[in-house]
Amino acid sequence: SGKWGRVVAIVKEFEEQCRTPIGKLRQVADAMDVEMHAGLASEGGSKLKMLITYVDNLPSGDEKGLFYALDLGGTNFRTLRVHLGGKEKGVVKIESDEVSIPPHLMTGSSQELFDFIASKLAKFVSSEPEELHPPPGRQRELGFTFSFPVRQTSIASGNIIKWTKGFNIEDAVGEDVVGELTKSLEKIGLDMHVAALVNDTVGTVARARFSNQDVIAGVILGTGTNAAYVECAHAIPKWHGLLPKSGEMVINMEWGNFRSSHLPLTEYDHALDAESLNPGEQIFEKIISGMYLGEIVRRVLLKLAEEVDFFGDTVPPKLRIPFVLRTPDMSAIHQDTSSDLKVVGNKLKDILEINNTSLKMRKIVVELCDIVANRGARLSAAGIFGILKKIGRDTVKDGKKSVVALDGGLFEHYTKFRSSLESTLKELLGDEAAETIGIEQSNDGSGIGAALLAASHSQYL
Ligand code: ADP
Ligand code: MG
Repeated sequence: SGKWGRVVAIVKEFEEQCRTPIGKLRQVADAMDVEMHAGLASEGGSKLKMLITYVDNLPSGDEKGLFYALDLGGTNFRTLRVHLGGKEKGVVKIESDEVSIPPHLMTGSSQELFDFIASKLAKFVSSEPEELHPPPGRQRELGFTFSFPVRQTSIASGNIIKWTKGFNIEDAVGEDVVGELTKSLEKIGLDMHVAALVNDTVGTVARARFSNQDVIAGVILGTGTNAAYVECAHAIPKWHGLLPKSGEMVINMEWGNFRSSHLPLTEYDHALDAESLNPGEQIFEKIISGMYLGEIVRRVLLKLAEEVDFFGDTVPPKLRIPFVLRTPDMSAIHQDTSSDLKVVGNKLKDILEINNTSLKMRKIVVELCDIVANRGARLSAAGIFGILKKIGRDTVKDGKKSVVALDGGLFEHYTKFRSSLESTLKELLGDEAAETIGIEQSNDGSGIGAALLAASHSQYL
């Protein structure tokens, strides 16, 4: 019928606009490489901030003792106690507590957010048995993973540049994250020393390096997306400090803010961006990461409902609610293996209150998920390939192995996304170079990595 013809036409057009043929991915990777150079050359030289992290020594594997970590990522907030056992024992024990961040704190005041964090940390510590208490005169030490752009001024201080991922706390912009946290800790009388302030990508590199010395980069695919990698200190023209002894510096790229004319953007992406809390910013993040993938699919479905009565004569009211279709639900829809797409039907019913969908309709919904996930995964692979190019690891060199550590709920749980990323990276590298590059899931890198960096920057060393 005419209706189906129009449905197919809209889907086809969307698919066309989202296409990421290998040539386009190479252009994206080249643009990433160019922007990395520009961001390292001068402050503000690129959309990529290429932030200096003050991490010039990564874990050797010898780190030992009891350290704490706070992980403020986007969706959840975690407190961790990590027992490190050095080379023989590795990470001996991790205990952690997780709470979701009340939405009103994401757009409230700085003080409210940090008081909340401090109170959760105090609660976590107060339940500890006597034998875990530090000896008299010694403070507990903490690594703070704060996964938003920060201009660091030392390993344990740095000012918030801007918020992302649905956060918007205006009075915190420009403030020192560690100062804010320390104020809140003092207020409730919790005696703890913040030994390291780290981005989750940097934590991921540190965590993975603790177990594997071939690790050269870390990528987060969670609520948002970002990457960090190990750069030669002399390849950072904007760094005017002393060259570190190691000759290396970890760079937090803030690649979520990458943008290029080669990125395949659609009308739905432009509308999502325009209506977001941070229009014009984090464009790469908005087409790749977990916060947004489901929302893009929702927008295409809404267009189908409005323009061609895809779900019947009326537009299902729930379909108009921004972010109602979450990426975990999208991945369940996408990966439904039942012959009648039962999961798809149930999700449409439960989330959008759309009943009696035909198999034909369900297949369209799955196809939209496939288009959106594939584009995100392939562009993520292009970004990784861009990093490898920048540091000359994209081709075979005396058999040297390089490992990229990945972390985040999207990579961990969305199997189709993950396998698309992996196969695309192989495709970009070619068979021979692909042999020397490893992708490794670094579980809990953002938490454990912060504890490791607290250990290597302890005030008692
Ligand atoms: P954060 O990025 O907030 O620190 P995580 O790394 O745990 O936290 O990532 C959480 C994000 O991962 C969620 O916001 C969601 O977008 C995505 N995610 C979680 N589970 C799934 C899933 N099953 N399928 C797809 N995406 C998922
Ligand atoms: Mg996280």
